[in-house]
Amino acid sequence: MSSLWGNGITPPLGNGHLPGDTTARHGDGTNTLACTKYIDEVKGDVKIYPLPHMDVVKDLVPDMNTAYAQLTSVEPWLKADTPPPERERLQSPTDRKKLDGLYECILCFSCTTSCPSYWWNGDRYLGPAVLLQAYRWIADSRDERAGERLDQLEDPFRLYRCHTILNCTKTCPKGLNPAQAIGEIKKLMVQRQG
Ligand code: SF4
Repeated sequence: MSSLWGNGITPPLGNGHLPGDTTARHGDGTNTLACTKYIDEVKGDVKIYPLPHMDVVKDLVPDMNTAYAQLTSVEPWLKADTPPPERERLQSPTDRKKLDGLYECILCFSCTTSCPSYWWNGDRYLGPAVLLQAYRWIADSRDERAGERLDQLEDPFRLYRCHTILNCTKTCPKGLNPAQAIGEIKKLMVQRQG
């Protein structure tokens, strides 16, 4: 079987196997990963487009500068003041399990670019992919800056432009649930208000 990558077009990252913006919008009208979607699975004509509602640099290459700057803004890495132990920072199996459904994200941005709130306010709303990444670090028991991370998200646009439309969860080719991650952040916002 052939995957959706054809010849003669510039794919987003040089081949179809790397994570990140390797997205096609196929005949069924949803975003997916062109490198894993088989032509036989598509009903009707196979139509491949770059990530929707993004500026296009060339062929299937979208301009990801804003999205990547938004990702950087949530500082998606471990932040801890406790000096690192001699070996790795340990985590209980229960705490480790809290990262399931989050760490698997490959940052393809299928979810973000299927979100009407992001289409309309992409300059100020962070979108589901970045918010899932933000929650991945808030939920990590080894990270010590959850409060600071929540402060940074407490904003009418950055977080609260999510209106639970759920396109993000429906389209995620990894079967993840960014809408749930956003809901968890909102719950923590309420909880910390007492
Ligand atoms: S949550 Fe899913 S759709 Fe969104 S960036 Fe991650 S893998 Fe892609």
